[in-house]
Amino acid sequence: MKKTAIIGGGASGLICAIFCARKGVEVDLYEQNSKCAKKILVSGNGRCNITNTNLTYNDYFSQNPLFVEFALKEFGFLEFEKFCHSIGLLLDAKDDGRVYPLSNEAKSVASLLINYAKNLGVNFHTDTKITDIKKLLNEYDAVVVATGSEAASHLGGNSDGLEFAKEFGHNIVPTYPSLVQLHLDSKIVKKMSGAKVDGEVTLLINNKKKLTSKGDILFADYGVSGFAVLDISQSASVALMDSSHVSISINLLPSFNAQKLSSHISSLALNMPQFTILDILAGLVPLKIAQALLEDLDILSSISADKINVKLAKKIANQLLNWRLEVTDTHGFRHAEVSGGGVDTTEINPKTFESLKKKNLYFCGEVLDIVGKRGGYNFAFAWASGHLAAKAISRN
Ligand SMILES: Cc1cc2nc3c(=O)[nH]c(=O)nc-3n(C[C@H](O)[C@H](O)[C@H](O)COP(=O)(O)OP(=O)(O)OC[C@H]3O[C@@H](n4cnc5c(N)ncnc54)[C@H](O)[C@@H]3O)c2cc1C
Repeated sequence: MKKTAIIGGGASGLICAIFCARKGVEVDLYEQNSKCAKKILVSGNGRCNITNTNLTYNDYFSQNPLFVEFALKEFGFLEFEKFCHSIGLLLDAKDDGRVYPLSNEAKSVASLLINYAKNLGVNFHTDTKITDIKKLLNEYDAVVVATGSEAASHLGGNSDGLEFAKEFGHNIVPTYPSLVQLHLDSKIVKKMSGAKVDGEVTLLINNKKKLTSKGDILFADYGVSGFAVLDISQSASVALMDSSHVSISINLLPSFNAQKLSSHISSLALNMPQFTILDILAGLVPLKIAQALLEDLDILSSISADKINVKLAKKIANQLLNWRLEVTDTHGFRHAEVSGGGVDTTEINPKTFESLKKKNLYFCGEVLDIVGKRGGYNFAFAWASGHLAAKAISRN
């Protein structure tokens, strides 16, 4: 019987262990934490956005984006769904393509995968950090590096897999935090800490519009977070790494255009002369934001509405729809959901996930230079790559 060691008990390591064991491969799974699947447990705010019904290479960022094509074809949504059904894990596909467990609980995903793997005879070695990969390769017929990325160190994120890869001469594409909050260069932002809007964020790189995203925008002491921000963070992070000038434009009221908004402000000012300028803005955006916005424009919040002329109304409307703020940094790997960069995929067989530099050594999941968008794409790649590595190991 073939003996395989899997380093990492996260999404890709667990599915790899399951498919190896199903084919009769003897599996030892090593996990540094006392429990496996820590990232699965916290994923999707405890609900686990487990995959997506629409998976294409366009949903991934990499220096070699076509690398994911074969894996997504071989083990795309339908194949994954079939596997989930086989272990009693029913799925709930939303209209936008996001898929969650029917139980709506990440816990059920983690426990089903772990218990099923245990029932198949996978030997779990928790609290066991692998440091010597060469020794492991001497002891086993195959070794799978499923160690994930540096993102979220409190859950086990580290760069061990990259260090292992380097030992065999692999190139490492520089890593960067992705799906991460952004730091802004503005003292004003701190004053909005805790405020939240459903708005639009546009990323500008060297003052050119790169992409726009809609959704939650949350202000914090350090800058901004929220889904709209996470969705532009990959491109922002790469641009910061390249030392480009990075800024964002926040549209606090996407349902208005400039004309409509300045007319609204002017007519309200006319009808409510007893109001202050702050009262007028407080009907449009959270108070903290209104105060900070006026401060940023050097406008006294106590100015009475009858002092608002057309020029001032336009100025305020413009700031509400296009508030430019400089991005200085990301909130770092510790807070990132995923990491971009990783083991160079041009040195990995896309059909087997075996290293092209070292026979019987496999890499799967986030340790590779593949990072997905938000929406279940990162788990989708972890499942697909772990499955293909297992298929190759059990066939060889
Ligand atoms: C807060 C948060 C929410 C997320 N939500 C989603 C979501 O809803 N949908 C989605 O698609 N993706 C989500 N992700 C991303 C997703 O969790 C990862 O892409 C996925 O877990 C990667 O799987 P992996 O197997 O490559 O790595 P991991 O799941 O990180 O597993 C790697 C494992 O290897 C272990 N390990 C590392 N080094 C060693 C060593 N030397 N020896 C032994 N063990 C080691 C680690 O402890 C870890 O358990 C989220 C991530 C975070 C942090």
